[in-house]
Amino acid sequence: MENIFNFKNEIIDLCKEAEVNCAAEFTKIDKICQLNSLKVLTAFHENRVSEIHFNSTTGYGYNDMGRDVIEKVFVKVLGCEDALVRSQFISGTHALTIALFAFLRPGDIMLSITGKPYDTLDEVIGIRENSSSLKSYGIEYEQVDLMNNEFDYESIKKILISKKIKLIEIQRSKGYSTRKSITLDQLETIIKFIRSIDKEVIIMIDNCYCEFVDMKEPCEVGADVVVGSLIKNLGGGIAPNGAYIAGRHDLVELAAERLTVPGEGREVGPTLGMNKMLLQGLFFAPQVVASSLKTAILSSYMLERLGYLVEPRYDEKRADIVQNIIFNNEEKLIKYCQGIQEASPIDSFVTPDPSEMPGYEDKVIMASGSFTQGSSIELSCDGPLRSPYIAYQQGSLSYEYGKLGVMNAINKLL
Ligand SMILES: *Cc1c(COP(=O)(O)O)cnc(C)c1O
Repeated sequence: MENIFNFKNEIIDLCKEAEVNCAAEFTKIDKICQLNSLKVLTAFHENRVSEIHFNSTTGYGYNDMGRDVIEKVFVKVLGCEDALVRSQFISGTHALTIALFAFLRPGDIMLSITGKPYDTLDEVIGIRENSSSLKSYGIEYEQVDLMNNEFDYESIKKILISKKIKLIEIQRSKGYSTRKSITLDQLETIIKFIRSIDKEVIIMIDNCYCEFVDMKEPCEVGADVVVGSLIKNLGGGIAPNGAYIAGRHDLVELAAERLTVPGEGREVGPTLGMNKMLLQGLFFAPQVVASSLKTAILSSYMLERLGYLVEPRYDEKRADIVQNIIFNNEEKLIKYCQGIQEASPIDSFVTPDPSEMPGYEDKVIMASGSFTQGSSIELSCDGPLRSPYIAYQQGSLSYEYGKLGVMNAINKLL
């Protein structure tokens, strides 16, 4: 079968070996998938999801039953008080932006304790000049870097004692950095620590790429508010866009007033025919996240065996669906991404080249032959063109497609 793709025999053999040696890891993932599937199904039942909820609204979007039920289902799945789940959020970056502008006021200080946040937030915060940034409104930004992939408890304590911090941002997934992603256990420990010093500071989690990777979500371990993208994990590859902000009721209300209009808040926002897709996407999400994890593990094993540096290793505890391959070589990074594109369902015939992207500082190469533009819960691979030339690979709607993509990319590399 694989010969249709002209895979080298060595790759076919290596893949067989990988599947045998990854079997124990795959079993762990199946268990987590089972639990999260139960969570989703229970949320559908408790909220009596029905065909009527597939109807939608236009115009102002008043009284949208489907939209309301979707938000209740997300509340249950994320283990929190309230949720705003909207296609009016362009994507995760937009939801993070709305959340920051909703919670912070002139003179407030926000603190990131996972180093510099995701690249697309540079201009939002004002790390890079933009005349509409938080900084332009007089909101200050402070940062504590991670130390050897752990929180810098000492420095965090010092800042919390010496200054009044309004909001702490914790980004779980590594973004385009070289650090490891933050596990749920690490998150639980740091939240307890923060709370022992400051009872009021808002603890906000950028949860992109992390949903359903473990058995719990951040609000269940004490986070105040959590933000994520629907073109990643919880969209299940079906949601055509959107994002969510979930957590404490008062914070979700503030976010709703910022997203739409003070005084209208969550009461408006037409769903334009998308309700069924958001529900179906969430329904598939545990399985799609599991497929993504298995694809990541398979590639980690195979590439390590071929002598490449990988992070995480195939049997390491994972916090997100992202797999890094450290190529230390520009051409190899490009070849690998091109191999992923070549095995994609959409635009398999185009060759991705590194280029400038809005919101990113370096040139970026992006392989994403996806049904939804930029969707990275579908198999995708990207990386900024800077040393040490790391590929950030993530997603796959099914393990079988993921496997073919990885085999093709390795074939291209060799
Ligand atoms: C992808 C990502 C974002 C941005 O989400 P988009 O949906 O791409 O806008 C923010 N933070 C992290 C950690 C991400 O991985």
